[in-house]
Amino acid sequence: MVDKIMKDPKEWKKQLTPEEYEICINHGTEPPFSGKYNDSKLKGSFKCTCCGEELFSSNSKFDSGSGWPSFWEPISEDNIEYVSDTDYGMVRTEVNCKKCGSHLGHVFDDGPKPTNQRYCINSISLKHEKDM
Ligand code: FE
Repeated sequence: MVDKIMKDPKEWKKQLTPEEYEICINHGTEPPFSGKYNDSKLKGSFKCTCCGEELFSSNSKFDSGSGWPSFWEPISEDNIEYVSDTDYGMVRTEVNCKKCGSHLGHVFDDGPKPTNQRYCINSISLKHEKDM
């Protein structure tokens, strides 16, 4: 079980840039093809911008053509929280960091094998770290 981090919006505002706050805390979405990890071939892990939890690995990153960094699986299901999202008249599954609640992106079932999942994640929600 993950030890949860609870912070109020004021604390997050101090810690994060305005851009990070908008995506991670206000559940925003960065414009497609704008994020620094969209085309990235960097090896290693991608951690939560807000709490540093390891969320995704370059081993499961693939080029989805969507404009956002995409992964076919998280490092651990234990680190991910799934929430049904019906905003904008669509039924989607929102993906958040389980430890701190930060918004990461959405997951769709049109991904590649072996999972057929496509975790469509905002670059701003992630921080790359070399060597897992
Ligand atoms: Fe987090």
